[in-house]
Amino acid sequence: MTNIEPWIHIPDNSDFSIYNLPFGIFSTANSSKRVGIAIGDKIIDLPEVIRLGLLDSLNIPLEAAKNEFLNDLIALGKKTTNGIRKKLQKHLCDESSPLKNHDACFVDPSSATMHLPVKVGDYTDFYSSIEHATNVGKMFRDPENALLPNWKHLPVGYHGRSSSIVVSGTDIHRPKGQTKPADSDPVFGPSKRMDFELEMAFIIGKDSSLGETVSTDEAEDYIFGMVLFNDWSARDIQKWEYVPLGPFLGKNFASSVSPWVVPLEALDSFRVSGPEQDPKVLPYLQYSGTKNYDISLEVQLQPEGEDESSTICRSNFKYMYWNMAQQLAHHTVNGCNVRIGDMMASGTISGKEPDSFGSMLELSWSGSKSVGLRNGQERTFLEDGDTVIMKGFSSTDGVRVGFGEVRSKLLPAK
Ligand code: MN
Repeated sequence: MTNIEPWIHIPDNSDFSIYNLPFGIFSTANSSKRVGIAIGDKIIDLPEVIRLGLLDSLNIPLEAAKNEFLNDLIALGKKTTNGIRKKLQKHLCDESSPLKNHDACFVDPSSATMHLPVKVGDYTDFYSSIEHATNVGKMFRDPENALLPNWKHLPVGYHGRSSSIVVSGTDIHRPKGQTKPADSDPVFGPSKRMDFELEMAFIIGKDSSLGETVSTDEAEDYIFGMVLFNDWSARDIQKWEYVPLGPFLGKNFASSVSPWVVPLEALDSFRVSGPEQDPKVLPYLQYSGTKNYDISLEVQLQPEGEDESSTICRSNFKYMYWNMAQQLAHHTVNGCNVRIGDMMASGTISGKEPDSFGSMLELSWSGSKSVGLRNGQERTFLEDGDTVIMKGFSSTDGVRVGFGEVRSKLLPAK
């Protein structure tokens, strides 16, 4: 990649470099919800750029940009959304661009509110990290045979609930529910084992029709972009309810996403090979090319009243055993259709090392050891007032493409 030099100031190590240009939805005191594009420490107001005439050749209807969600813009297709990014890149590097003297196009994030970027139709959560699935299998089932027999043959997943997907900054109440202490009948009350799950999610950018199958070769045409995803989990509720049909109330009370959707094309330089899949997978799950992405991830925990957070996990999206193309090919192989705005989460992203485990369940090994924080406190699971912060970025040869963060605070049960 040739390095390009924009005239706009971009702070060192900004996630939102000239190569990124992610899409989000923002509003200000004076303007309604609209599409924004992050650059350095500014938000580009897309309706304003359209009004200036800089994107005329792309024929973008103003309503797609002045919109509560990205769905209508995404529906115009990758040719249009990547066209916007290419044209903005050009203008941001051209000293004589009208953009340079048009302050109305640039909004200070401190005066903006970020919103949920897409209207989520359906939400699916996979279980695609072999390290995570192995850790959970060892703790809950059999240390010798941690993976279930199907795990290496298909990307295991379940259908979640979209109504409770919220944007970064939304506080979450500790859920109440039914749990089963080891030595008594079931009881009702606030969860005592609140957890996060470090995940990423991809957003569908193109409808498929009922009965149609999306192949691994076609899959990336159907993926608009990615966000960071915290799949909040109540382990005690989950443990009692999940057999035989899988996660339900231990999961569906909230999931939090980062506000900026990084288009898949912005991540192209960070493709890497995935782990070798042995045994060989069925033909519909085979793929060509590099379909994993090198994205450094971390989780920080900030207790109530503290200014500093502690990093409790460092992981990487490249560890995923099943890639997004395989997940989507599997999801549609039976003819299940996908729609623009659907969200497909990866499952908890753990690495091999204990400090790369992507949940408190694994970091504390089911509560049997504690995780130390910078202020001297310890945790096995989350406490009321804890803020969980997830960050992610890719970087190579001075080119950085990041996701910003998803940050949410756990409040006491209502
Ligand atoms: Mn999950």
